[in-house]
Amino acid sequence: MIIVLLGAPGSGKGTVAKLFTEVVNIEHISTGDIFREEIENGTEIGKKLEKTMVRGSLVPDEIVIEAIEQRLKRPSAQNGVVLDGFPRTTKQAEYLKEMLSKQGKKIDMAIQLKISDEDIIDRTIERRICSNKKCGAIYNLKYNKPRQEGICDKCGSSLIRREDDNIETIQRRIKTYHTRSEPVIKYFENEGLLYNVDLKAEDKVTKNDIKRWIKEIKN
Ligand code: ADP
Ligand code: ZN
Repeated sequence: MIIVLLGAPGSGKGTVAKLFTEVVNIEHISTGDIFREEIENGTEIGKKLEKTMVRGSLVPDEIVIEAIEQRLKRPSAQNGVVLDGFPRTTKQAEYLKEMLSKQGKKIDMAIQLKISDEDIIDRTIERRICSNKKCGAIYNLKYNKPRQEGICDKCGSSLIRREDDNIETIQRRIKTYHTRSEPVIKYFENEGLLYNVDLKAEDKVTKNDIKRWIKEIKN
C-alpha cells in the first residue's frame, strides 16, 4: 500500500502517518525528519539545508528526490509506505509516479488533511516533539498535552520545540505551502487519487478513522 499525506504544516501529517503504521504494516517516510537528521548529524547536505528550513523555504527538488529514492529502495519499504511531507511540488509528484511505475507500483490514495491557516498557527506554535528520534512522539500543549510537563508519555525523554515552529517561519511555511504545494493537490485530484479530510485544530484522528479511509481506496 502506498499512501501520500498532503496538508499544510501542522495539519497532522506526522501523527497520522504514525497511526497508519499501527494499522497496516507499512513504513513511515518523512522528508522533514530525514532532513532534520542530516542537520543534526552535521552532514554536508545537512549544512546546506539548515538555512533553507529555518527560513521556511523548500529544499531543492533534486535533493529531495535523491533522498526519497534511497528510502524507497530499502527492503523495509517494500511492503508499502506512508509518505509524509512528500511530494511537495508538482515536479516531485510527477517524479514519484514515474519512479513507482518503473517498479510496477502505484499510489493508492493521496489524503489531504484540510485545516485553516488560523488553526495551523495554533497547532504549530504549541507543538512539542520528543527529543528521542526513535520515539518521535508529537504533542500539543493545548490539544494533546503530555501527562507530565516537558516529558514524553511514551519514552520519558524530554520534549523540545522544532526550530522552525516559530511565528515568522510558520507564516513563511504557510505561504510556501499555498504557492508550491496546493498545485500538488490539483495534480492528485486530476489523477483521481485525492481523498479530503476536514479538520479543526482540536480534532484528533484515530485508528478507526484510518481504517475507514483505507476502505475508500479504489481498486
Ligand atoms: P511541516 O509539514 O510541518 O512544515 P516537515 O517536517 O514536513 O514540516 O518539513 C520541514 C521542512 O523541511 C520544510 O519547511 C522544508 O524546508 C523541508 N522539506 C520537507 N519535505 C520537503 C519536500 N518534499 N520538498 C522540499 N522541502 C521539504
Ligand atoms: Zn518519546
